[in-house]
Amino acid sequence: MDDRISRIIIVGGGAAGWLTAGVIAAEHRIDSQAQHPFELLLIESPDVPTIGVGEGTWPSMRATLQRIGLSETDFVRECDASFKQGTYFRNWQTGGGQGDDDSYSHPFTVPTDYAEANLAPHWLALTDAPQFADAVTPQTGLFADYLAPKQITTPEYAFVVNYGYHLDAGKFAELLRQHCTEKLGVKHVMANVSQINAAENGDIQSVTTDRAGDIAGDLFIDCTGTNSLLLGKHFKIPFQSRQAILFNDTALAAQVPYTEEDQAIQSCTHSTAQTAGWIWDIGLPTRRGTGHVYSSAHISEDEATAQLLAYIKETAGDKAAAGLVPRKIPFQPGHRREFWHRNCVAIGMSSGFIEPLEASALVMIELAAGMIAEQLPPTRDVMDIVAKRYNQKFLRHWDQIVEFLKLHYVLSARNDSGYWQDNRTAASIPEKLSEQLSLWRFRSPWHQDAGAVDDLFPTASYQYILYGMGFSTVPRHTCSHHQDERQRQASELFRKNAARATQLRQALPGNRELLNKVREFGFQKL
Ligand SMILES: Cc1cc2nc3c(=O)[nH]c(=O)nc-3n(C[C@H](O)[C@H](O)[C@H](O)COP(=O)(O)OP(=O)(O)OC[C@H]3O[C@@H](n4cnc5c(N)ncnc54)[C@H](O)[C@@H]3O)c2cc1C
Repeated sequence: MDDRISRIIIVGGGAAGWLTAGVIAAEHRIDSQAQHPFELLLIESPDVPTIGVGEGTWPSMRATLQRIGLSETDFVRECDASFKQGTYFRNWQTGGGQGDDDSYSHPFTVPTDYAEANLAPHWLALTDAPQFADAVTPQTGLFADYLAPKQITTPEYAFVVNYGYHLDAGKFAELLRQHCTEKLGVKHVMANVSQINAAENGDIQSVTTDRAGDIAGDLFIDCTGTNSLLLGKHFKIPFQSRQAILFNDTALAAQVPYTEEDQAIQSCTHSTAQTAGWIWDIGLPTRRGTGHVYSSAHISEDEATAQLLAYIKETAGDKAAAGLVPRKIPFQPGHRREFWHRNCVAIGMSSGFIEPLEASALVMIELAAGMIAEQLPPTRDVMDIVAKRYNQKFLRHWDQIVEFLKLHYVLSARNDSGYWQDNRTAASIPEKLSEQLSLWRFRSPWHQDAGAVDDLFPTASYQYILYGMGFSTVPRHTCSHHQDERQRQASELFRKNAARATQLRQALPGNRELLNKVREFGFQKL
């Protein structure tokens, strides 16, 4: 019997569905004339809207778009995209009252010489040091000045300093759809899936749609968003809530116009802590995307709305805030207990979502699509082995997301609400994170703390959050000539970073200036 996997059905046409379709189709040539044709078909509901948010990516998106075969110039032009170099956090540590400068950055560039040198202990040994991220990388000064990460002459997807994107989620799905159907051979059906039909062995045999009849397949990819139609509703794979650790469960999103046509565009996401959550602020060429993510157990919707509107008034003026009615998006922080079950794998919101802090959702889609494309089981009988490995890997990723996001909250010294106090209760902190924090009191995070080579967040990210938030590591000092020499070398790197920052400030254009040039001339093709 032929149990070859040759027909893949993706249900759902949001960012998860189309990114997955693109990555798989680019890896496996779709050719209906081939002896063993490989087919990829995406079914999308004409009635159920996509979630319509998700505007911040990681640098990994550059490799993903390149892999799919999209030109960066087209992507920037079509998706109203801008360049993102990291995140700038405000008011997370103390709340910023009484004139405190309560801010720090998490740049995408790892500290200079990170493969070999751990600069953190040397930075800790300095008196009168600049902020950690400012000392170890030239990048933070660039996004403080709204500068771009490259020049118009830098080829597509190459960089001067590492970057990802801010984008319009609706336009992104639209561009991916067009590219996948016109260039990569993905078939597209607009229909509602109304029933899942099981085969005798318990696999999914086909799905019934309202406009295209029954559609059969060998592997079904559930990208139906929070509906989780195949993995959740059909297979009843339990949902594991993470709300006891990370409390946020509601977002209020609002698009804010620029006050002037040529206003500078931020080249990092701004994240400003509030009394029971935080506000994101993302700069696109035509508008800003803002939103308040909060815990509904700690603040009312009215109060959360008032905080968002006050933020918009403060940053864009009364006119921009007038008449704005934010869109409410409730969500359950958590994920499925397994993601690949029998011949069905869930990707995107259907597999889980925690909260937008550190924008880890799209990168999880990229990783999932990449693993499926690379390890696509040739036959049904090896699928369960791939599924087992996939589940282990992605459970580890979810655990790390939960721990890394929680780190932002436990380090806060804010005492102005129950939210911040509750975030520091021992019962809400994962055991592994507590242990790591105990160790990091005596030594800085470093490569030995990485759980696996493919960890989602590198240990450098832990350094940025810890020392940005004022965490104190008091090393067991051993005075030696060797150490004096290392301190001298580190000081030299700090000095070089400062010099490089000055040089880059002069060389790089503003974020808006570069985006205007991309619109006019485009980047050089690779
Ligand atoms: C407030 C908020 C902010 C976020 N910010 C970020 C961020 O900055 N960065 C980031 O990486 N991620 C972010 N995310 C997550 C990101 O939005 C999602 O991961 C991403 O958009 C993928 O969504 P999706 O495709 O899984 O689901 P959706 O966009 O909901 O798409 C679901 C698809 O399934 C289809 N469908 C549903 N039911 C059926 C049916 N019966 N038959 C056929 N089709 C069906 C729908 O038509 C739709 O096409 C954010 C999420 C939220 C809630």
